[in-house]
Amino acid sequence: MKFNTKVIHGGQELDPAYGSVMQPIYQTTTYAQTTPGGHKGYAYSRSHNPTRNALENALASLENGNYGLAFGSGLAAIDAVLKLLKPGDEVVSTNDLYGGTYRLFTQIFEKFGIKFHFVGMEDARDIGSYINENTKLIWVETPTNPMMHIIDIKATAKIAKNHDVLLAVDNTFATPYLQQPLSLGADIVMHSATKYLGGHSDVVLGALVVKDKVLADKLYFIQNASGAICGPQDSFLVLRGIKTLHVRMQRHCENAKTIATYLLKHPKVENVYWPGFENHPNHLIAKEQMKDFGGMLSFSTKGNNYDEAIKVIEKLKVFTLAESLGGVESLAGHPASMTHASVPKEEREKTGIVDSLIRLSVGIEDEADLLADLEQALG
Ligand SMILES: *Cc1c(COP(=O)(O)O)cnc(C)c1O
Repeated sequence: MKFNTKVIHGGQELDPAYGSVMQPIYQTTTYAQTTPGGHKGYAYSRSHNPTRNALENALASLENGNYGLAFGSGLAAIDAVLKLLKPGDEVVSTNDLYGGTYRLFTQIFEKFGIKFHFVGMEDARDIGSYINENTKLIWVETPTNPMMHIIDIKATAKIAKNHDVLLAVDNTFATPYLQQPLSLGADIVMHSATKYLGGHSDVVLGALVVKDKVLADKLYFIQNASGAICGPQDSFLVLRGIKTLHVRMQRHCENAKTIATYLLKHPKVENVYWPGFENHPNHLIAKEQMKDFGGMLSFSTKGNNYDEAIKVIEKLKVFTLAESLGGVESLAGHPASMTHASVPKEEREKTGIVDSLIRLSVGIEDEADLLADLEQALG
């Protein structure tokens, strides 16, 4: 099945009860048994729920995996992966990481004796020197947030295999429409389905997809034992969202390209960070491992003035000033005062997050309206 068919039919079966085309919302905690243990595979909804299972199968299909696991949020999904580890284990992670992931690693799991190395991974060869006999996991996010670095998944997977270490990729920004990490050699794909997979800014949900049965069993044990599952209503919303993933992503990519090209020529703009530019340092890797360049971009204004950037962002009307990303509506954020406010200015600027940096999640509105909005805000 081709990807654009999979988003609608992948892993899906018609409901056996009435043949409903859309998976019903099984809003139930428990299931009647004819004799103790005599049930149809469903005993209690923390363990299994038909609506959640339908979503898990759909996600497995989209990511070219065999097993999907859905959680109450993206962070709950990451939490489940980290629970594969034990005290003394070490993790090598992308340094330009989603803030919530960084917080989970450093403020929760470090307490339990897990050691993290945060590494610039734009050159995959740099990863090897951080691996020792205690290393159990490499955690990669690509494209990164908000600097849009690209990490070579295939090269990283080779390093992981050589050292017998698991490779997990946070595929939230790219989605399986643009890149499929399992096919590039990763062991685990993670999603904040809150973003593009849900796509309508109306649900918080997370997911993991793997190929290997032994790994799937371990993660399923954690999902059930720790219990951070998502409910059937939320599973339904994401299942509905992904049915339009391919058409939404196509438009997100087209609009982002138009806006990146426009901003690059704007006299008030200093830098534009978008992996589609030929002079982006990781452009060739992006071109190789992604189908297109995504709907996210960042830019800085000339003079690097904090107040001026705030003024620009406040003047935007079609773009909404808000956290999050990946919905049909365009959003704008100011990393220095929002997502990265807790990082000291000096540390921030080292990674490129200057005071005038603005991050855009480009939506699927008409591009003329988006351009006009940026024009008046920058003017
Ligand atoms: C939002 C996000 C997360 C966390 O997901 P939640 O659903 O908010 O818990 C993790 N990684 C990335 C890249 C994200 O954008």
